[in-house]
Amino acid sequence: MGESRFLSKLRAPSRVPLLGARGAQNGTTGRERSDQLSERVQRMLVTSLYAQPSSLAIGAIATVSAAIVSAWISGMTELYVAAAILTIIAVARVTAALGMSPDSENNSTASLEFVYEIGAFSFALALGCTAAFTILTGMQTQVEVLMVANALGYGIGVSARNAGRLTISIGQLGLTCVPIALACFWIGDIGFIALGVTILLLIPAMISIAKNIFNVLRDSIAAAETSRKLADKMQVLARTDVVTGLANRAGLNHAMVETMMGVDDTSQLALIWIDLDRFKEVNDLLGHPVGDRVLSEVAKRLSGVTPDGGTVARFGGDEFIVFCPIADRKQAEMIASEVHCEIMRPFRIDGERLEVRASLGVSLLPEHGKDADTLMQCADLALYHAKVGGRGQTCFFNSSMSRDLVRRREIEDELRAALQRDELSIFFQPIVDLETGKIKTFEALVRWFHPEKGELRPDEFIPVAEETGVIVTLGNWITAQAARIAATWPEEVTIAVNLSPLQIRAPGAALGIKNALREAGLDPKRLELEVTESLFVEDNHSTAAFIEELSEIGVRFALDDFGTGYSSLGYINSFPFSKIKVDRSFVSGAHVGRKSDAIIRAVAEMGNTLGMDIVAEGLETIEQVQAVKDAGCNLGQGYYFSRAVPDYLAAMLLAQEREQDERQASA
Ligand code: C2E
Ligand code: CA
Ligand code: CA
Repeated sequence: MGESRFLSKLRAPSRVPLLGARGAQNGTTGRERSDQLSERVQRMLVTSLYAQPSSLAIGAIATVSAAIVSAWISGMTELYVAAAILTIIAVARVTAALGMSPDSENNSTASLEFVYEIGAFSFALALGCTAAFTILTGMQTQVEVLMVANALGYGIGVSARNAGRLTISIGQLGLTCVPIALACFWIGDIGFIALGVTILLLIPAMISIAKNIFNVLRDSIAAAETSRKLADKMQVLARTDVVTGLANRAGLNHAMVETMMGVDDTSQLALIWIDLDRFKEVNDLLGHPVGDRVLSEVAKRLSGVTPDGGTVARFGGDEFIVFCPIADRKQAEMIASEVHCEIMRPFRIDGERLEVRASLGVSLLPEHGKDADTLMQCADLALYHAKVGGRGQTCFFNSSMSRDLVRRREIEDELRAALQRDELSIFFQPIVDLETGKIKTFEALVRWFHPEKGELRPDEFIPVAEETGVIVTLGNWITAQAARIAATWPEEVTIAVNLSPLQIRAPGAALGIKNALREAGLDPKRLELEVTESLFVEDNHSTAAFIEELSEIGVRFALDDFGTGYSSLGYINSFPFSKIKVDRSFVSGAHVGRKSDAIIRAVAEMGNTLGMDIVAEGLETIEQVQAVKDAGCNLGQGYYFSRAVPDYLAAMLLAQEREQDERQASA
């Protein structure tokens, strides 16, 4: 019963807010609860009457046999009749007991007790009277002893056995003993009077024993009942999220198992995995209490849009899951869109307006999987794609996603090990002065030589490193290596290192770079950090602090991939960039033409005015070099000059240049 109530809670979370309020909400008072308890205890006590039917059978067989033997010894017809009556009652009781199982809810406790009582009393009375009859008619001693001993033994034994119901226990004892005692007194012999007195004394003694047994039995049943209820409650708590009152991970698993058991060929289900975008910022900026209230509010809204029979769960920090039956894919799309709208609707917490966005991954049964695990995997994958695809989106699973994931998981596992195993190295690509043709800078580009997969491009593993946070360790390693190698180059050659936004926002980011410079003994002026526009759109505060701290010691900043992102000129004005790198799509992309040429010209003109270097990326042909030079770029980078090369080749390029210079000087 506890189980089914719990399920209904899971399925309709919006209607059952918090556990603590449950009793009051259902309107059950303390008294009703204790009555329910005693009703259950009573039921268990009555059930104990029906337990161990073998002891009843043995009692009945012994008694009936004694009556038959007595009848045979004495030759008294009355005793044959008594044996027959006892047999009929015994058979009737067995039949009734077989027909009335205490396990069946259909048989009320009262009717079970009544049927037992009738049988028990009539058998006891018949037996007591038969024994009394042998005394009254002065039968042979062996007959009297056989029947009296039998009746007393039965009465005492059965009263202990049935102590679970005191009325029955005492009634049976009285009905067997009293007729015998009365018969003893009727005869009036001193011996019989003594026997009668003994039997009467036996009654209060047995009642006291039966009462004791009853108390112990009742208390232990009540205790077991209490601990069962406690265990039920603990189970509900263990499956409930304290912040939102929704199911937690364990609760979701339980509900999913239950739902999956009821699934047939026609069932359709949707699993929507919801991840609040950048919720950490809400916690960091406004504090955890506000964060918790937002989560509770989200929980309420999700419960509101989840169809009946669905489950809403909170799955870790800022992730939620809606799991519900659907009629078709269209309905799943509708629910997902409702979920999205509900979360986007601004929150009001303490009068403050707050906006939250979410990414959603959706998987469907049976389309994407037939078991809960597969559905979870598919929704997780779809969510991952939603987040990578720019957040704030809904993605339905499709099979191409799994291939990506397998590769991503492999990379994730191996990336940490790769750092230790020396599988990563840094290559250097020159950035050349378009006027003189001389190398001004080398851009450090990381390479991963995987023992099985071969060379992996940074585009494949940098996003994974960012996603998993490995980028911080990886980035520090790259900066340290690059600085160490750059320190061996001529003074005027600088090194450019790419930085991910995540790396910059990590605590102690600036310190990590300062340490790398110090350990390599590289002048901070020779380090240039390449950052992309996305950095400024996402976060301003820590980025500004980072740029300021490093600019102060002379580190320079370049704006990478310019033209691919938001291309707001605002931050070019507010941050001290010394260089703008025009993305290679303007040089060699599919849409290169008059428009891109005009853009390069405008950027170059702005650079010249502001005293910034303008680099054209991705130069592969002499024509492209000429074009960007004409457009006003002063630096160039691309395969036309050189691909990214290992450190010894970079050193060789520099040595060649110096030789050339020396030759020119001597000429
Ligand atoms: P990016 O910063 O724009 O780096 C330039 C990319 O363009 C490099 O690819 C380079 O090999 C490639 N490239 C250079 N010249 C040409 C050319 O003439 N034609 C063509 N088609 N491509 C050219 P790579 O090394 O695969 O790096 C890709 C991206 O990975 C980089 O783009 C950068 O965003 C990221 N990345 C590379 N190394 C690092 C690193 O150490 N740290 C971080 N955070 N990101 C890195
Ligand atoms: Ca770059
Ligand atoms: Ca670039």
